[in-house]
Amino acid sequence: MTIKNGAEYIESLRGRNLKIYLFGELVKEPVDHPMIRPSINAVAETYDLAAENPELAAPHSSLTGLQVNRFLHIVESPQDLVDQNRMQRKLGQLTGTCFQRCVGMDALNSLYSSTYEIDQKHSTDYHKRLVEFVKMLQRENLMIGGAMTDVKGDRGLSPSQQEDPDMFVHVTKRDSKGVYITGAKAHQTGCINSHWIIVMPTMRLKSEDKDYAIIGAVPVDAPGITYIYGRQSCDTRSMEGGNIDAGNAMYSGQEAMVIFKDVFIPNHLIFMNGEYEFASMLVERFTCYHRRSYVCKTGLGDILIGASAAIADYNGVANASHIKDKLVEMTHLNETIFAAGIASSYRAHKTSAGNWQNDDMLANVCKHNVTRFPYEIGRLAQDIAGGLVVTMPSEKEFRNPETGPLLEKYLKGRKGVSTENRMRVLRLIENMTLGRNAVGYLTESMHGAGSPQAQRIQIARQMQLESKKKFAKRLAQIKEGEAEETVPESTEYFDRIFGNKNKSK
Ligand SMILES: Cc1cc2nc3c(=O)[nH]c(=O)nc-3n(C[C@H](O)[C@H](O)[C@H](O)COP(=O)(O)OP(=O)(O)OC[C@H]3O[C@@H](n4cnc5c(N)ncnc54)[C@H](O)[C@@H]3O)c2cc1C
Ligand code: SF4
Repeated sequence: MTIKNGAEYIESLRGRNLKIYLFGELVKEPVDHPMIRPSINAVAETYDLAAENPELAAPHSSLTGLQVNRFLHIVESPQDLVDQNRMQRKLGQLTGTCFQRCVGMDALNSLYSSTYEIDQKHSTDYHKRLVEFVKMLQRENLMIGGAMTDVKGDRGLSPSQQEDPDMFVHVTKRDSKGVYITGAKAHQTGCINSHWIIVMPTMRLKSEDKDYAIIGAVPVDAPGITYIYGRQSCDTRSMEGGNIDAGNAMYSGQEAMVIFKDVFIPNHLIFMNGEYEFASMLVERFTCYHRRSYVCKTGLGDILIGASAAIADYNGVANASHIKDKLVEMTHLNETIFAAGIASSYRAHKTSAGNWQNDDMLANVCKHNVTRFPYEIGRLAQDIAGGLVVTMPSEKEFRNPETGPLLEKYLKGRKGVSTENRMRVLRLIENMTLGRNAVGYLTESMHGAGSPQAQRIQIARQMQLESKKKFAKRLAQIKEGEAEETVPESTEYFDRIFGNKNKSK
């Protein structure tokens, strides 16, 4: 049955009997857990937006002929990529956190072209299987998570060199009906809130890593899966009652560790099975999409800029020139992130499978900016907010008959502004720069879609120094062909992760 809106999505998650550990106990029903529910509410917004604003979030799919949720859509034009970014910024503005669906969206699109190319070389039928799977997702309007990052053990060793083979998800058994996988994926965004998980390799693989070259889809409630819920800073505030101290009581992100113990994947849901030489292609295409998906953070930036402007107003300093200048600086940084992301989407090329891939250099520039600028925007927000952002008493003191009137009097800002509203906006700034949604705004910005060095490697690979040197030498009137010693750059780390094929734009 097709899920039509956020409320139906939330109902679809009930009664699945998942094995989820949180605070040392099994969670009975995640939908009703006060710490988990805000993350479910964030995903529900992606369903409601599609229902309310189909131009932005529910395109027509040529695969099924249906209007589908954009998170399940195979991109059919550069405009589709641009619209993904517009939708991501909007959802960031609506939730103030990670709404958890872009990993799945970017996985489907990178698999669409990669499976096509694997089939061309190996005469397999992965692409057809994937298309059937996507059609089912589109018809039923389901949520998928993308499970790429393995726990990895010793980062200096490849999957097959690890002392414990389970440091990377791998095939433990094959039979005529499918494969069984074991291992663990770390930091899995929205996994418990999903209906399906797509398991993919996380790095370049060699022939000895063949059993690690597995891509397949598993239902979130498949036998053999255990979830261990990830803590977020200040997460228990949503269990304290009240709605001020949480800062953003409605919404949060979600990450968990997913542990697979001999989980079965039937043949029709396997999209790579041993074709190790395609792992780097898949990882590169996925990160190319995903690094410009991080324009989601500009929606969060919009909120933090708004919160900073609001607290400056409540404090009576809205017209101070340095405050205005700091808001301009925050806006400049935020729009710089957006500019690179959306430009990457516009500069897309068509893959041989027929979908569209965004520009890799600009996607990496976008994500690299995301690893830095939100921290600076957060610093400026805390500057404007004042020290109360970290010293304010709790909502319970505010509601207490003895201390409440004291706080009402002594936490006042300018005339005409309620003390409670001043507290609320300060808690929101705390939430986004130190609390629960600082996971989504800051540390996810750092490591999600690859830590900063991964982008620098991709940028280095494509920076075309030789042609730039030629531009310079021409103007400096240095003659071509003059003997000059060159020192080759080391690409050893990069070659290991992504392979060493030369890429040019
Ligand atoms: C909030 C959040 C959400 C995420 N969501 C998802 C998700 O939904 N799906 C998913 O698959 N992944 C997800 N990720 C994972 C993300 O892609 C990884 O965090 C990222 O790739 C870094 O891996 P790591 O965390 O294991 O850090 P590490 O690999 O341990 O990196 C730590 C540091 O070591 C450096 N380093 C690592 N290996 C080497 C090496 N071999 N040589 C030199 N330096 C090295 C890195 O550059 C970095 O500076 C998420 C991460 C976060 C934080
Ligand atoms: S971090 Fe951003 S791009 Fe990634 S899933 Fe969350 S909202 Fe989407």
